[in-house]
Amino acid sequence: MKRFSYTRPTEVSEALAEAEGEDVYFLAGGTNLVDLMKENVERPRHLVDITHLPLDRIEEVGSGLKIGALVPNSDLAHDPRVAERYPLLSLALLNGASPQLRNSATTGGNLLQRTRCYYFYDVATPCNKRDPGTGCQAIGGLTRLHAILGASPHCIATHPSDMCVAMAALDAVVHVESASGARTIPFEEFHRLPDDTPERDTTLEPGELVTAVELPPTRFDKHYTYLKLRDRQSYAFALVSVAAAMHLEDGVMTDVRLVLGGVAHKPWRDRDAEAFLSGKAPERAHFSDAADVVLAQARGQGANDFKIELAHRAIVRALDQAARGSPQSITDKRIA
Ligand code: SF4
Repeated sequence: MKRFSYTRPTEVSEALAEAEGEDVYFLAGGTNLVDLMKENVERPRHLVDITHLPLDRIEEVGSGLKIGALVPNSDLAHDPRVAERYPLLSLALLNGASPQLRNSATTGGNLLQRTRCYYFYDVATPCNKRDPGTGCQAIGGLTRLHAILGASPHCIATHPSDMCVAMAALDAVVHVESASGARTIPFEEFHRLPDDTPERDTTLEPGELVTAVELPPTRFDKHYTYLKLRDRQSYAFALVSVAAAMHLEDGVMTDVRLVLGGVAHKPWRDRDAEAFLSGKAPERAHFSDAADVVLAQARGQGANDFKIELAHRAIVRALDQAARGSPQSITDKRIA
């Protein structure tokens, strides 16, 4: 591991002042960053430990909630306001990692966790995300976890978060601050596709700190689900996951949300499929047609070709669960 300096400020302004310059990293729960440092994948010059900043509260804002960046994933999942008003988010969070990791991992850190592409973690292999311009060892290699949508010739990695898939469906807004001011980023614009700069996972600028995520009011407390399909039944990243939510009125779907995880470099929200479903009766034939819309441009890499059919079936099943008001159980792993 490369040597680095370390500070632990107690005010946001102090942390932002320290974030100027090259290779300065913010450290929160450390559940991903510390591993990456041990493997020499991330090589900070200076580490700003933000765990003592006052960013650990969940506050009411209008009819929505503002979640501080340091709120642990477990606290967020079990907060009564989240469980009652945003059960899709609770369900997605509880599908992620393990209880121990959820106790340490933070809301801001979850947004910024990096891909679990095997080659990204192996510094002996070329990887454009880790070392820009070196190539992509995954293309033509082991691709079981890799993208079927939005990939580029430079990177076919997927974003690993479950929480972010639900946040994309809920139209969350990310609050960020830097030494030069504050701004908000719509959740769909926070993560990016790899294009020819896969080293950039997000649209954050250097020196910007995620301070909170805001959830607007929604009507998805009855018709929602988070369906996660993976190689093990717990503590594994998604091969495919689907966040589905809708409002039903007079027997038709209004305001439909459909976001996939495990298939692209970012949570994959498909607004064309959402618009297609809106105004229709909640029937499997329509769900299947919507899955066709989502997957029209899907391309496998060989070893992950199966994910296209898997995603199709998961979309149909998730929309059906949401329409029935029967979300996937977190304890009973059988898919209803
Ligand atoms: Fe690196 Fe992306 Fe290729 Fe994986 S898929 S080896 S992260 S460039």
